[in-house]
Amino acid sequence: EQWLSVPKVELHAHLNGSVRDSTLLELARVLGEKGVIDFSDVEHVIMKDDRSLHEVFKLFDLIHILTTDHKIITRITKEVVEDFASENVVYLELRTTPKKNDSIGMTKRSYMEAVVEGLKAVNAVDINFMPHDADAGDFMDSQHIKSGTCNGATRKKIYVRLLLSIDRRETTEAAMETVKLALELRPIGVVGIDLSGNPIVGEWSTFFPALKFAREQGLYITLHCGEIPNPKEIQAMLDFLPQRIGHACCFEEEEWKKLKSLKIPVEICLTSNIRTDTISSLDVHHFANLYNVKHPLILCTDDAGVFSTSLCGEYSIAASAYGLGRREIYQLAKDAVEFVFADDEVKKDLREIFNSAAKMLD
Ligand code: 5GP
Repeated sequence: EQWLSVPKVELHAHLNGSVRDSTLLELARVLGEKGVIDFSDVEHVIMKDDRSLHEVFKLFDLIHILTTDHKIITRITKEVVEDFASENVVYLELRTTPKKNDSIGMTKRSYMEAVVEGLKAVNAVDINFMPHDADAGDFMDSQHIKSGTCNGATRKKIYVRLLLSIDRRETTEAAMETVKLALELRPIGVVGIDLSGNPIVGEWSTFFPALKFAREQGLYITLHCGEIPNPKEIQAMLDFLPQRIGHACCFEEEEWKKLKSLKIPVEICLTSNIRTDTISSLDVHHFANLYNVKHPLILCTDDAGVFSTSLCGEYSIAASAYGLGRREIYQLAKDAVEFVFADDEVKKDLREIFNSAAKMLD
């Protein structure tokens, strides 16, 4: 891949959307044999290329049937982190919706414990997922704290931080439970809250109390904003002043004005927007305008598995669609460091990683 040598920062990746096709098919085969699902139906859906936004959410319901099990969550977390690391992602903010499933004794907390097990199981690279001053308590044994911070000179390393997603189907109480869990899990690298899920479902007023509480408690917030035309909600979201937003596809003149004056960084997911037909083509994608006016933006994958893409792939698309050269791509990747939800130590280290990579550009 052309952009493999450029270090990259991934800030918008949904765990269950980033699962390898091969893993999904393997899981589907097992459940097919057990008679829980019909494998051929699932195979067809998983291998399908283009999906409307509506179909994507149907696919997520299916993926969740395949993955909502502690051991599987651990496995996919490990694989997703290793996949991003293998394409030279040096900082990953991974987001996931904590799930409750009484029939298998899963609570939102035990779901997240399974995610953390996955982070601990990463061995293809050195992983740092705990803030420096964190007291991880009973989550971590001392050995893991060591391997998290001690990096061999030749080993690749990746920083991973977690965002907990509130699904738009959830109630205020359920959203609040997720925020409280995020606060509890700060020591193991949960840094913020995301609002996602089917944009035609749910009301801003339902999530607002939980998001407000999260912000008061110092968690960072990113919102899926403007995936469908909904001016009222878009305005309310911008007025909330989240630290970042995702997508911003269906904005009108007034909303662009507000976004630009507030300088809220936008997580841009090109392939996702095109595949779901949220934006009709790359020529008319708002990346071009935001890039030209130097509005803060970050290229991201959204769902590398579901949309069969990668972060290298997204940079390739941007380079060819918008005529960006090697230096511009490097700068775009580097600028993302300023918008991560991690502490200054991490940012400083990331800037150094980019500075030493810059030498390769000459
Ligand atoms: P999970 O949170 O289960 O790890 O990842 C999948 C979930 O992320 C989906 O069920 C959905 O709630 C959210 N998600 C993934 N991609 C998108 C997207 O493009 N738009 C929105 N609004 N939500 C998404």
